[in-house]
Amino acid sequence: MATYDFDAIVIGSGISGGWAAKELCEKGMKVLMLERGRMVEHRKDYITEGKGPWQLPYRGNLPPAEVERDYVMAKWGGANLTGQTHYYNNDRLNPIDFENSKPFRWVRPNQVGGKSLIWGRVALRWSHIDFEANKRDGHGSPWPVTYDEIAPWYSYVEKYAGIAGSKEGLEQLPDGEYQPPHPMNVAELWVKERLERAIPGRKLISTRTANMTEDKPEQGRARCQSRSMCARGCSFGAYFSTQSVTLPAARKTNNLTLLSDQVVTNLEYDPKTKRVTGVRVVDANTMQAHVYTSRIVFLCASAMASTQILLNSRLPGGERSFADSSGLLGHYIMDHAFRTSFWGTIPDAELS
Ligand SMILES: Cc1cc2nc3c(=O)[nH]c(=O)nc-3n(C[C@H](O)[C@H](O)[C@H](O)COP(=O)(O)OP(=O)(O)OC[C@H]3O[C@@H](n4cnc5c(N)ncnc54)[C@H](O)[C@@H]3O)c2cc1C
Ligand code: SF4
Repeated sequence: MATYDFDAIVIGSGISGGWAAKELCEKGMKVLMLERGRMVEHRKDYITEGKGPWQLPYRGNLPPAEVERDYVMAKWGGANLTGQTHYYNNDRLNPIDFENSKPFRWVRPNQVGGKSLIWGRVALRWSHIDFEANKRDGHGSPWPVTYDEIAPWYSYVEKYAGIAGSKEGLEQLPDGEYQPPHPMNVAELWVKERLERAIPGRKLISTRTANMTEDKPEQGRARCQSRSMCARGCSFGAYFSTQSVTLPAARKTNNLTLLSDQVVTNLEYDPKTKRVTGVRVVDANTMQAHVYTSRIVFLCASAMASTQILLNSRLPGGERSFADSSGLLGHYIMDHAFRTSFWGTIPDAELS
């Protein structure tokens, strides 16, 4: 029987990698987690947390020329704020290429924790309408899972991560297992009342968010203090991140080996058994290559980077990825659609 270095390898330490490592370690597997970026330890490495503008270069706002030069991609993730640039790739040093007629922005927070450190923390469920949309509209393939099959897993994650929200009974936005919602402020209540009166049946609700409203002492986490500095890291552990939630749980088992600065280049594949047998990495500091073997590999490097690794995974002497039997690998990828917003101003007099 083949022997392996680890029972499982998890590529990437972001939101999905953190959960995979936690679950596998808790089931007793010896797990290697490989992360291309640098180490970021909970609390210790949140170097701008709690700092005021007077304690930051440029009072917390990067000069526009510097943003255009180094952080055009990342500014869509908030990296134009000085207190957060250390969580994003510098575009000039890590360039990507695309056809000018088809531009896209790839926000790459490459470090231990990945995007879990900087995400917006809005934690919504898909509804059965989303899972059935392809089939109903006649596009592509239907989802191989249904909402009812996924719902218990939503509950499991919500309860463990600590999601705050209100139960509303909306078909398009199913209710979950929530801590109490964050209360609306005066202006939000003002809009809610008028909107719901003007459009019967329409609801304005507090967002469902991974900023906790109750403590989780068993996880060493305290509720959100409403400081609005989440994307710098939170020592209270008040929002869900790999660092505050899944990594401590995985480490507690003593089954986890976490290596940072390890760029996975491709999956190793045995054509005889038709199984992935491990991964090849390049150490970002020494440039040395190394192969780690395992019984299973979880590819959690995010939509774009996981595809990149699969495209690089070829049979010896082969031109094409062994994972591309359909010829569609690298097509139709959705990384992240966001920043749809609207705003207005409410005159003071209306609120008093
Ligand atoms: C600014 C912003 C706000 C967002 N807000 C929300 C929100 O409010 N709600 C929501 O649901 N979603 C939000 N998202 C999306 C959410 O963050 C992602 O869907 C989620 O993080 C994806 O998890 P992941 O584990 O696939 O990838 P990531 O969290 O990106 O983790 C991938 C990890 O893999 C590592 N990696 C990549 N390539 C390699 C390699 N070759 N070798 C080794 N490691 C590698 C990366 O460095 C990274 O650490 C937001 C995203 C952004 C950018
Ligand atoms: S989660 Fe709450 S306490 Fe933590 S940084 Fe964000 S606003 Fe502050």
